[in-house]
Amino acid sequence: MQALVWEGPERMTYRSADAPVAASGHVVLRVAGVGVCGSELGAYLGHNELRRPPLVMGHEFSGVVVEVGTGVDPVWEGASVVVNPLVTCGTCRWCRRGERQLCRTRRIIGIDFPGAFAERVVVPAASLWRVHRDPEDLWTGALVEPLACAVRATGQAAIEVGDAVLVYGAGIIGLMSAWMARRRGAGSVWLVDANPVRLSQGPVWGADRALDATAEDVAALVRRTHPDGVDRVIDAVGLPGTRRQGLELLVRGGRLVLVGLHEPATTLDGNRVVRDETEVVGSFCYRDQDFAVATNLWDGRRLPEEGGWLDRRPLSAGDAAFQEQARGPAPFAKIVLDAEGRP
Ligand SMILES: [Zn+2]
Ligand SMILES: [Zn+2]
Repeated sequence: MQALVWEGPERMTYRSADAPVAASGHVVLRVAGVGVCGSELGAYLGHNELRRPPLVMGHEFSGVVVEVGTGVDPVWEGASVVVNPLVTCGTCRWCRRGERQLCRTRRIIGIDFPGAFAERVVVPAASLWRVHRDPEDLWTGALVEPLACAVRATGQAAIEVGDAVLVYGAGIIGLMSAWMARRRGAGSVWLVDANPVRLSQGPVWGADRALDATAEDVAALVRRTHPDGVDRVIDAVGLPGTRRQGLELLVRGGRLVLVGLHEPATTLDGNRVVRDETEVVGSFCYRDQDFAVATNLWDGRRLPEEGGWLDRRPLSAGDAAFQEQARGPAPFAKIVLDAEGRP
């Protein structure tokens, strides 16, 4: 089979690789669509401590089951599925509470195992979620994984009806978080980014205002409308500046959710957290329940389709897609690669 192999900083090669076989408890998928994730762009550039080349990345994907291993119910043969890429022990305290994203031995398909930037990928049968979309739109099933991240982030935000929500980052997680915040009853949702093309995609995701941090005084604009601060901030960027400003713009007793992973260390005003009784919480991946919600939202065609935020490319053009997202103007919030080579 053909696969897109990351071989080192800014080196992504489309070449032949061994076709996977279904081990016991596993299935082989023919990949329908696989999303290029922001965390993979960092790795591609050589900034990721978790991934080691050579590696077939790709953890946001959908496909059709073409082979089932021993011990797997043959009913899965031919099923259209999306895949939860978390592979966990199933026995630790977190797994048993349904919080597998916190598993002590958590591993992820596309990081710790070969991922879906390939014609075929092997996954545990326990990772499959059956879906009902037509085969020609199964490729957009790659959107379920980032949507599950946004379901989790907005769940961690504990949004109440009418809340003012500020979202940093108009990448796919930020856009989807804005959309989920709206679905959870937010009264207003403002989006902040430095990329005007991405910001222009905010309205289709339910953002009332899109603020360009390079051209506008974000803090002054937020304070003018919300003099006491906003109720919830979701930082889908993860830079010291967005984390600090998010904390500063929160109302007393408000909640800051950190979901972006850009720089590890940030200095925050701890005394302010004390005096304002601010809640600062992390959000990583998703619980199984969040993945189920995301699967149902996507399968039920709830996601916006207009707005030019999504593009589809053949897997063979993967290197150019990574270059464009990492170095170029990156106008698309999500690029999905398609192993079947359709444009
Ligand atoms: Zn991702
Ligand atoms: Zn576990």
